[in-house]
Amino acid sequence: MGEDDVVRIVRSYIEGLFPKVCPTCGVRFGSLREYLQSTTHLESPILYDTINEEIPSQPLGPLSLANCACGTTLTINSRGLPTDQLIQLLEWAKVECNKRSIGVRDLLRHIRDRIDSQVLQDDEDVDSLNDSSSITKTSTSSPP
Ligand SMILES: [Zn+2]
Repeated sequence: MGEDDVVRIVRSYIEGLFPKVCPTCGVRFGSLREYLQSTTHLESPILYDTINEEIPSQPLGPLSLANCACGTTLTINSRGLPTDQLIQLLEWAKVECNKRSIGVRDLLRHIRDRIDSQVLQDDEDVDSLNDSSSITKTSTSSPP
């Protein structure tokens, strides 16, 4: 698994979380793109798990925070990712952090920045705002 794979996996997971609605002002983010355009990221993503040693068997995964225009802090978390996939991603992060001698939050921020710029670059795909929901049909397996 390389960085490009990680970016692809995480991006398609996050895109599958949309549409999303701000619980306070009710504004609807139809896509990750809309979300990135109308919210402001708060600091670097957070990881509550310690991965310098053994990856936890039930990791919480990273959390990314952003402020809605109304001031409410919205979160994107990895709760919907299958645990084994999350562990794989964390294993990768652990190795990469060692290799690059950076902290995990720096790595997460780097990945987030790459996803953001990819998503925001996809201008050509959405020049006709027919129904952009058909663009991403990811099979995020969410058990009931
Ligand atoms: Zn809001």
